[in-house]
Amino acid sequence: MERIASFCVDHTILEKGVYVSRIDGDVTTYDIRMRLPNREKVMDNAAIHTIEHLFATFARNSEYKDSVIYFGPMGCRTGFYFLTRSLDNQTVLDLIRAAFKFIAEYEGEIPGTTAKECGNYLDHDLETAKAEAAQMVTILKPFTIKNMTYL
Ligand code: ZN
Repeated sequence: MERIASFCVDHTILEKGVYVSRIDGDVTTYDIRMRLPNREKVMDNAAIHTIEHLFATFARNSEYKDSVIYFGPMGCRTGFYFLTRSLDNQTVLDLIRAAFKFIAEYEGEIPGTTAKECGNYLDHDLETAKAEAAQMVTILKPFTIKNMTYL
């Protein structure tokens, strides 16, 4: 089998931030990298899970909701995938910044956390999710989206 494109990225040099991972027609896949791969402790699953619920809720209620295809965690627990349709990089970066700010300041009940709505509804951690999001607000403040460097 062929090695898929995302495995061809040199993960030993990736920094935190947002990367264009691939483009399929009008759909762009962004990697939101929140940990230095293989160089830092990965995120806790409960915090990842809470970020997933809050980010998706925010993006799907934003003015760009019709262009949001998917938001979900990377199995390696160092970041998230964000897929959008027909949006330019600057718009997506601003949307990501706004989503993390929303999470960092979030108070109250996490959306979608009943047994009916979620596959593991007790596995959430709002305080850690807020700290993770606050870190990304700081990192993304001076950031511009980079293209992945393929090996
Ligand atoms: Zn869930």
